[in-house]
Amino acid sequence: MSNEVQYKVVVGLEIHVQLCTRSKMFCGCAVKFGQPPNSRVCPVCLGMPGVLPVMNKQAFEYAVLVALALNCEIADFTKWDRKSYYYPDLPKNYQISQYDLPLSTNGFIEIPLEQGRTKRVGIIRAHLEEDAGKNLHPAGNFSQVDLNRTGTPLLEIVTEPDMNSGAEVRALAVELQRMVRYLSVSEADMQKGQMRFEPNINLVITKDGAEYKTPIAEIKNLNSFRALERSIDYEIQRQLDEFLETGKTMDTAGKSTRGWDDDREATFLQREKEEAPDYRYFPEPDLVPVELTKEWLDDIRAHLCELPITKQMRYVNEYKLSDYDAGVLTAERSTAEFFEQAIDAGGEPKRVCNLLTQVGLKLANEKGCGLAELGLAPENVAELAKMIAVGQVSATAGNTIMQEMLKTGKSPQLMAEELDLVQKSDACELETIVDQVLTENTKAVDDVKSGGKKSKKALGFLLGQVMQKTKGRANPKVVSGILAKKLG
Ligand code: ZN
Ligand code: MN
Repeated sequence: MSNEVQYKVVVGLEIHVQLCTRSKMFCGCAVKFGQPPNSRVCPVCLGMPGVLPVMNKQAFEYAVLVALALNCEIADFTKWDRKSYYYPDLPKNYQISQYDLPLSTNGFIEIPLEQGRTKRVGIIRAHLEEDAGKNLHPAGNFSQVDLNRTGTPLLEIVTEPDMNSGAEVRALAVELQRMVRYLSVSEADMQKGQMRFEPNINLVITKDGAEYKTPIAEIKNLNSFRALERSIDYEIQRQLDEFLETGKTMDTAGKSTRGWDDDREATFLQREKEEAPDYRYFPEPDLVPVELTKEWLDDIRAHLCELPITKQMRYVNEYKLSDYDAGVLTAERSTAEFFEQAIDAGGEPKRVCNLLTQVGLKLANEKGCGLAELGLAPENVAELAKMIAVGQVSATAGNTIMQEMLKTGKSPQLMAEELDLVQKSDACELETIVDQVLTENTKAVDDVKSGGKKSKKALGFLLGQVMQKTKGRANPKVVSGILAKKLG
């Protein structure tokens, strides 16, 4: 078909992450969510004339740490710039940001895709700036502004347009959240606005053998993974429809800024701009540039940890876990560390993983806490995994013991005895029971011995009878061995 239309999606992402320092970027005001409006402000963050900002060293170190994790080149000289815009939530009428000499450039992030595949997405830059306040629009003919957030340290990360679907963008966002949490530099709680996304999207369309690029649309201020993915999917369809209807391309129409309506699940036009807005950037005269020495950089680098994606891949390769399980265990750093402690204590990885994902994490979810906060000793989990491995208890009984262990804090050995869950592996004892079952079920015995179609089913039936007689406590492996011996 000559008029077939094909297209490729191109998405780049800008992310803002609030850093969890105690005080703001350039003043001593506390960074704290949910305080009475305008109670965490001072002359500096209110932009009063004559005040002097002072850089928060911790914020700078956190930003460099993330930049290192993003494989960026770190600048040994970086400076601050004023980015002018006039908006009620920015009392100074400019934001202190970084323009031409950001603290880091040119990195990449590895993101997990389905079935253990990964993809490398380029990072153009990561720089530090200050957050604006919040405009509130309550019912009525007025608006309000809360400046508590004004001046909160904000890390801006800009990716290359390397992503080709809403799902990939979501995967990057999730990975970045996991990363900054591992590094303890941000809670990255999207409901609190601590992590916000702005994707820019367009399509490369092939039609009748010619290639067209649709105008880039940037969606502002998305604050959930769902909104991020959905808005991109919506925008793909909208741009395709618009192109087929109007033929508009990048060359004939400018970039636009769009918002996301969560209720309608649709993007809407905010403004069309022919050129980039003029922010009148100029160097901030009140702040000295930052010179990062090798020693200082080394100190910061010492705070790096094994990153979540590296851990996830290691769990798959080294411990032979499924990619899914590895993802669950590495979602939070404290969970991954608990798992590793149980491995270090001698637990077999797959069995420890099962106990944690099938019982531990479920209970933690119910309680609304992390696995590590359940008060469970990793050594006890390791011990329980060993008991399952040697057949002292069955896997099912293991889960029960795990549950009771969480309630009582007792050792798995003690729990197994108290609950009478120790598996019968004693061959002599089991042989007596097997003999009894064989005498009671001569028909099934004949079926097995005949070796016909019914043989397998009959053998399963006999095993089931033994399990029933022992109330599920016979070691099925041992029983199978005895049955095989007796029935040839
Ligand atoms: Zn302040
Ligand atoms: Mn920004």
